Amino acid sequence: MHSLRFKFSLALIITSMSAVIVVGIIAQWRVSTRFDQMAMERAFENFQADVTAYIASYGSWNEARQVERFGQFVRRKRALTGALPDEPFFSGPEDRIEPAGRRLKPPMPDEPEWAPPFLFILLDPQGKVLLGGGKYEDGEFVPVSARLGVTPIMLENQVLALAIPQGKPNLSAIDRNYLAIIREALIYAFVIAGALAIFLGFLFSKRLSKSLHELTTAIRAMSQGELRQTVTVHGNDETAILAEAFNRMSADLAHAYEKLKESNCTISEQALLLKELSIRDELTQLYNRRYFNEQANKLFNQMKRYKHPLSFMIGDIDHFKQVNDKFSHAIGDEVLKAVAGILNDGIRASDVVARYGGEEFVVIFPETPLMQAVEQCERLRKKIENFPWSAIHPDLQVTMSIGLNGDLSFDGFEQMLAVADSNLFQAKAGGRNRLCY
Ligand code: GH3
Ligand code: MG
Ligand code: MG
Repeated sequence: MHSLRFKFSLALIITSMSAVIVVGIIAQWRVSTRFDQMAMERAFENFQADVTAYIASYGSWNEARQVERFGQFVRRKRALTGALPDEPFFSGPEDRIEPAGRRLKPPMPDEPEWAPPFLFILLDPQGKVLLGGGKYEDGEFVPVSARLGVTPIMLENQVLALAIPQGKPNLSAIDRNYLAIIREALIYAFVIAGALAIFLGFLFSKRLSKSLHELTTAIRAMSQGELRQTVTVHGNDETAILAEAFNRMSADLAHAYEKLKESNCTISEQALLLKELSIRDELTQLYNRRYFNEQANKLFNQMKRYKHPLSFMIGDIDHFKQVNDKFSHAIGDEVLKAVAGILNDGIRASDVVARYGGEEFVVIFPETPLMQAVEQCERLRKKIENFPWSAIHPDLQVTMSIGLNGDLSFDGFEQMLAVADSNLFQAKAGGRNRLCY
């Protein structure tokens, strides 16, 4: 994946480089066409002067032609004036030189080694070739359609002849030097502009992508759980609007998340409380019968499967009805709470004690053989008997009868508990405040 900064840089560099290339090509093309045009104009001026002089010397082209060829005339004239070899020179078709310097005819012994800057075909006003070359020979008629680039050679408002430029100009050494200097300058400009375009492209793309980069970093942090994010807002463009909106949304989201966490906390606390309430007895705060049944079933199956010992105890307060009747229901409640406390404090953490009914209590002793449970229950019974009940009421005395069972051969805990219950009945029948198993 390419980063946004890379894309910005690429776009800016491509745009500016394209502009630089287009400017370079157009400038180069304009310079060379302008040079060609200037060379042609200069050549034409000389050619026009030569043609006019040639015709004027002898009266007409045809008369002049009888005496000497145009090329000879021009050479003679140049020799007289001492013109430089680079200056325009034109001769007749018999000794004309191609712009590239390749001769059409063998050179004359006295001819200097240079190429004319431009070639013109000369026509008379009717279109007949006076001085040919290339496509048209002397005496041929050039069709009107081919006379498009024609330039008239005038003398005293009279058209003497028509000239058609041929081929590409042959630039002088000075012109070629100028052109080379201009081209060199253009290449320098092109290289410097290109380097500047790349440098500015990187610089601007960094500035452009900075805010977005900050935003993406913040969003990444958000997705990893850090909801409260703040990005710097630069200016007031679209990215600034985006950054502002992002900051607002991040704050809202973080706030909502904190609220949600708080209410989640409350809900879990309440759920815990509710669960406790659903498994606890309100008066004694011991487990209730429902929870006891669940645990009894679970532990019975576990111990039975792994052949570990397990004992059940069921205890019932003796003559409890009389406590209510003799003292009060409130004192009865106090007794129930005190008995619950004694049982709860007297067992191990792994044992489970519950209020099974009105004044009936049950205990599960996991990993405990019957005789060990008997010892423990005997201690509990004595603790109840010896409790300072007179602190609640001077005449109060409380005892408990207990039935026990440690036989796991039954199919379910209910039968096992039922045996413990019948042992309790035995204890009651046997005179109360005792243990049967
Ligand atoms: P026994 O020795 O044969 O068990 O005689 P008992 O009087 O204890 O047995 P009985 O079943 O006749 O009476 C139990 C009484 O327990 C009846 C009821 O009023 C009382 N009781 C049950 N639940 C509560 C309670 O939550 N608070 C109070 N104060 N008394 C209760
Ligand atoms: Mg009872
Ligand atoms: Mg009772």
